[in-house]
Amino acid sequence: MQQLAIFGGTFDPIHWGHLLIAETALHQLSLERIIWVPSFNPPHKQAAPFEHRVKMLQLATRENPAFTISLVEASRSGTSYAINTLIDLSAVYSNARWYWIVGLDTFQTLPRWYRGHELAQMCDWLIAPRQLGSDTVQSDLICQEVEQQLRQQSLTIHWQFLNIPLVGVSSRLIRKLCGESQSIQYLVPEPVRFYITTHNLYSEKSE
Ligand code: ATP
Repeated sequence: MQQLAIFGGTFDPIHWGHLLIAETALHQLSLERIIWVPSFNPPHKQAAPFEHRVKMLQLATRENPAFTISLVEASRSGTSYAINTLIDLSAVYSNARWYWIVGLDTFQTLPRWYRGHELAQMCDWLIAPRQLGSDTVQSDLICQEVEQQLRQQSLTIHWQFLNIPLVGVSSRLIRKLCGESQSIQYLVPEPVRFYITTHNLYSEKSE
């Protein structure tokens, strides 16, 4: 049975934090593959055009043979929901054990996801620690709370932390810096930085 992880996100744009998370998951769990799934039409978010986000993902992940990009979300109309992604990918990769990679901020919202209760049990959760605002609540308490909420509905969830230090980079920060014409060097891979500059993404007068 293959051990595969899905890493879903808006990736607007992909940054070094995402790459560190994926690489850590790969080795910590001895996974065969990380499947990056950019949301086509993310709920609650306005994002740069899908084509740009995919191109930047390709540029950032091309040197790692264990990284695959799936365009599965583009083949569905309407809002992108995680459960549909897992169902569709299970049809492509049969006989797999599935993991789902999320940041702590995203994991915290799992009980409210569309069909989140079903999804919660269909895979194991790999959680990247993340600073949540100025909050100093411990990461494991947050995860235990999610676990508890689901247990109240007789659902069992499997999760573990990825062993990485807190990384303060976010796509929002990159977009903000670009909007202020500040450098994003060392926050994103160089080909991604070049792509953003060439296509004038995220600047005041971007496409
Ligand atoms: P934005 O700043 O636009 O909200 P983002 O940096 O959170 O974007 P996404 O593409 O939305 O990037 O993230 C995909 C997944 O990666 C989410 O589960 C998110 O929580 C996680 N993630 C992104 N950056 C980090 C980080 N620095 N530390 C931990 N998790 C992260």
